[in-house]
Amino acid sequence: MADDDVRKACGYVKLTTTMRFDLITIFPDFFTGPLDHGILRRARETGLVDVRIQDLRVFTKDKHRSVDDRPFGGGEGMVLKPEPLFEATESLLGQSMGSAQEPASLDSKTAIVLMSAAGNLFRQETARRYAQLDRIIFLCGRYEGVDERVAEHLATEEISVGDYVLSGGELPAMVVIDAVTRLIPGALGNEASSQNESFSENRAEPESSTVGAQYAAPPQDHAQSGSRLLLDFPHYTRPADFRGWKVPEVLIGGNHAEVANWRRAAALEKTQRNRPDLLLR
Ligand code: SAH
Repeated sequence: MADDDVRKACGYVKLTTTMRFDLITIFPDFFTGPLDHGILRRARETGLVDVRIQDLRVFTKDKHRSVDDRPFGGGEGMVLKPEPLFEATESLLGQSMGSAQEPASLDSKTAIVLMSAAGNLFRQETARRYAQLDRIIFLCGRYEGVDERVAEHLATEEISVGDYVLSGGELPAMVVIDAVTRLIPGALGNEASSQNESFSENRAEPESSTVGAQYAAPPQDHAQSGSRLLLDFPHYTRPADFRGWKVPEVLIGGNHAEVANWRRAAALEKTQRNRPDLLLR
């Protein structure tokens, strides 16, 4: 059976083609481990995603296989050179990425993503957009970073995973792969679960605050907005009483409408407490 037939037979709603991720890195061994567990492992095994790792040094031409050089203008550290990154990408794509004289264009279902602390912030909406693509090539920086011509003329996007500086683009690329993979239909096993979690778009708003006095009602102007992103509601499991800390009564009562209402209000309260910025967007 073809992959698509297998997925159809398994009852997935939407047929998808395999999503391809390529990682271009100077540390190819870095990814043994992160790709081999849980949802990502299963998505690879069932052919929902295909993750390939490309050693950047293969695309060097000197005998020291150097991928970096000193910065023009002076200063600390080393900078990843443009040639190996261009050539590794071109070899994966089977096409030239052009030159200043003749810029090339790229298939719109492919993204070339440069991981960069100075990039655009990666968010759930970015993950949703990426999940629609056929292929993403990740360029993992190291040292002081990457020659700017890579950001300008090779990468289609420059992406940061948060306002902090890491020592390489490998972990950030893994973050993106993980977030995107779990949005691919069939990856979670339970389609509902990616539709009702933190940052999902279709979270309903609470009809009234039923979680208690500590869960303050939102400011009125925000209560009117239907498009806000909320964090997930708090989850509880057994035991119902753990060291005297009890699970909220409403969750044990079995009244589904009350549970749903409590969860919506608790999600809003938690968003106000931990991420008030989300409510101001
Ligand atoms: N001099 C750079 C930091 C270089 S860190 C600066 O100040 O912005 C080395 C590499 O780690 C970067 O090239 C990038 O690929 C990766 N990296 C570091 N922090 C990152 C972040 N927050 N998001 C994505 N990639 C990051």
